[in-house]
Amino acid sequence: PHVAVETDVAIIGAGPTGLFAVFECGMLRMKCVVIDTLEAIGGQCSALYPEKPIYDIPAHPAIAGADLVHRLEEQAAPFSPIYLLGRRVEALSERDGGGFELRTSKGELVRARAVIIAAGAGAFGPNRPPLNDLSAYEATGAVRYMVARREELRNKRVVIAGGGDSAVDWALSLKGIAKRVTVVHRRPKFRAAPESVAQMEAAATMGELDLAIPYQLHGLTGKDGVLDHVVLATLKGEEKAVPADHLLAFFGLSMELGPIAEWGLGLEKHHITVNPATCETNIPGIHAIGDVATYPGKLKLILQGFSEAAMAAHAIHPRIYPGEALHFEYSTSKGVPAE
Ligand code: FAD
Repeated sequence: PHVAVETDVAIIGAGPTGLFAVFECGMLRMKCVVIDTLEAIGGQCSALYPEKPIYDIPAHPAIAGADLVHRLEEQAAPFSPIYLLGRRVEALSERDGGGFELRTSKGELVRARAVIIAAGAGAFGPNRPPLNDLSAYEATGAVRYMVARREELRNKRVVIAGGGDSAVDWALSLKGIAKRVTVVHRRPKFRAAPESVAQMEAAATMGELDLAIPYQLHGLTGKDGVLDHVVLATLKGEEKAVPADHLLAFFGLSMELGPIAEWGLGLEKHHITVNPATCETNIPGIHAIGDVATYPGKLKLILQGFSEAAMAAHAIHPRIYPGEALHFEYSTSKGVPAE
C-alpha cells in the first residue's frame, strides 16, 4: 500500500460534524484529511434528507440539509482539506514513535498525528439481500445496488427488487432500454410517488414490463458470477425462476459501525464512549464527535456535534504543537486565511 497522504488530523466521516472539525482544526493551524465511504460529503444530511429543512441550526431559522453541507464546505475551504471520498476506513493503528496509520478500502495509507472519528451511525452501504453466492455476482456486476449508466443495461434482462422510489423510477427508466424488466415486490402497495407507481402499473398492463407480486427474492442461479435466473418465492413457498442477466436490489441504505468496532475503542451500544471535556476516547490521540460519540447528557444533534468539534480540536492542539501555549482567541480577532 502507498502512503496517500500525511497530515496532522485524519477525520473519519464527512458529515456535518466532520466538516466543521476541519474549520476548528484549521483555526488552530492543523491540517486535515477527511475520509468518507460516500462519494459526496455531508453524511446523513446529503444522503438522507438533502431537501428537508432543519430548524435548529443556530441563526438559520430553516436551512435545507444540502444547503447546510454546502455552507460547511465553504467554511472549511480556506483550510484546504483533502477529501478522500468513496472509500471506507478499514483499519486504524498506532505507529511506533507516535501518531496513527489508517488504511482505506482502496488500499491507501493515511498517516496522521491525531484522529477524529465523526462516523455518525457508521458507514453507509446498501442493504444486501441474503442470497446464495451473492458476492460472486456482485463482483461481476450481475447484482447491483446502483446504476451508473443506463446504457450498460441495454438489451439485458433485468430484475428489479424493492418497493420504494428507486425501484419504481429505475423500472420506468429502463423499460425502453433493457430487453425485459421484472419488478419484484413482496406486497401490492409501493412506497413511492403515486404518479410513478401509476405509470409503472400502466406499463405493466401494456406488457412493457412485468410485475412479480407478491414475491420475494429467493436465490440466484448461474455460474462464475454470470447470472441466468433470479429465483423468486411467495411467502407460501411457491417458487418461480425469472431469466435475468442482472438483479438490481433497492432495499435502501443502512449504516453500520463496521470496522470501527474492532479498533479497541470503548463502546456502549454501538457508540464510542468519550471524555465529554475533550471528546477523547480511551485511546489517547483518537477523539470521537457527533452522532457516533456518547457521554452522559449527549444529544444527537448537529449543533452539539459542532461544539464537540471545537473541543476535540483544542484538545488535539498540544499533540501537533507540543510545548506551544494555546492562547484562546476569537475567530473575529484572528480571521481566516484567504483561500
Ligand atoms: P453523519 O451525518 O452520520 O456522517 C457520518 C459519515 O461518516 C457518513 O457519511 C459515513 O459514510 C461516514 N463513515 C462512517 N464510518 C466510516 C468509515 N469507516 N470510513 C469512512 N467513512 C465512514 N439533526 C439536527 O440537529 N436537527 C434536525 O432537524 C435533524 N433532522 C434529521 C432528519 C432526518 C431525516 C435524519 C435522518 C436525521 C436528522 N438529524 C437532525 C440528525 C443529524 O442528521 C445527525 O445528527 C448528523 O448528521 C450527525 O452528523 P455526523 O457528522 O456526526 O454523522
